[in-house]
Amino acid sequence: MKNFSEFTNSIKKYRVQLLATAVFVAALVIIAAFSGSRAVPEPLEVSDEPVVSQPAEESSAALAEGVGLYVDGAFVAACDSEEALAEAVASAARSYGLASDGAEEAAYSFANAISYESGEFAEEAFASQKDISAMLFSGTDYAGRPLAASLSVTSKKTYVIENVIEHGTRSVYTDSMYEGYMAVESEGADGVEAETYEVTLYNGVEVARELVSSETLVEPVEEVLRYGTKKYYGRTTVSIGTLHKPYDGYVSSGFGYRWGRMHNGIDLAQHGASCYGDPALCAADGVVTAAGYRGGYGNCVTVQHDDGMETLYAHLSRIGVEVGQELKAGDQIGNIGATGNVTGPHLHFEVYIDGVAVDPLLFLDYDFVIYD
Ligand SMILES: [Zn+2]
Repeated sequence: MKNFSEFTNSIKKYRVQLLATAVFVAALVIIAAFSGSRAVPEPLEVSDEPVVSQPAEESSAALAEGVGLYVDGAFVAACDSEEALAEAVASAARSYGLASDGAEEAAYSFANAISYESGEFAEEAFASQKDISAMLFSGTDYAGRPLAASLSVTSKKTYVIENVIEHGTRSVYTDSMYEGYMAVESEGADGVEAETYEVTLYNGVEVARELVSSETLVEPVEEVLRYGTKKYYGRTTVSIGTLHKPYDGYVSSGFGYRWGRMHNGIDLAQHGASCYGDPALCAADGVVTAAGYRGGYGNCVTVQHDDGMETLYAHLSRIGVEVGQELKAGDQIGNIGATGNVTGPHLHFEVYIDGVAVDPLLFLDYDFVIYD
């Protein structure tokens, strides 16, 4: 082994050195193959010394005029022109992820000393621009040996990132609407902002990020919500008290004049989900006075309570009670549907006192009311 090292060190010609190495490796393989599976060849000694070389020197191989590329003084390969070598270097830099992800490439630089020298080089040291680029990226020279110093590429990229600017909400108050009612005065809209970042990468890995500029592309539009402040004066004068919610949804339409006609009750629906098929519940203890189909009400149930109060449940998909049946507050009277004159499934609920329709919200506590 020692003799072999001395032997190889004494030879400066790479071709001979490579050939000798190949022959030695082949011999080891053959010896290992013939001496059985127990034989483990000793590893080759590999020098840690950087390879700094002038391959044309003392070479008996054919020489050719060209330009040599050196990284930190170590020869990499030769090419026909310095332009081709410079492009190979640029291409290797781009291989570190530059300009491959939609970012704009700003600049790159090497910590290494890159130099080009004209002269005569062994023909085998010549390589194409593409191959030289690959050598630089993999950190090897034309003969596959590791370079003395690997490339240290610092690059800068510019990214433009678009962010949503969330719109704000402003509340206005009016005594022309009852307390607890809300209406959308004007719709809001989110804006868009473009942020430009300069990102610094070292060998393709981000090491720094700086916000260069920020620009508003689309201004956000403020949402305006109108809230009612008008008090329910009737609330304290009615003796019946609080009703059981016929459906625990939200009020999609209130009591009063709607689209030029009187809406005698409230519409109850579910936010973000269909209420179709959900149970409709009796609002107070009472007796069923009607249960059947009734024109625009569709499948409809009415229940008589104490204090001259009557409640009505309309547009049901199914009726689950009979006339004369006694009910407790919270008992199911049927299922919510879309029968009769409707645009979608909801529970239409009415309250009468001595035959006069009153706002059911006088007796119910819904947090979320949409007044349209
Ligand atoms: Zn209705």
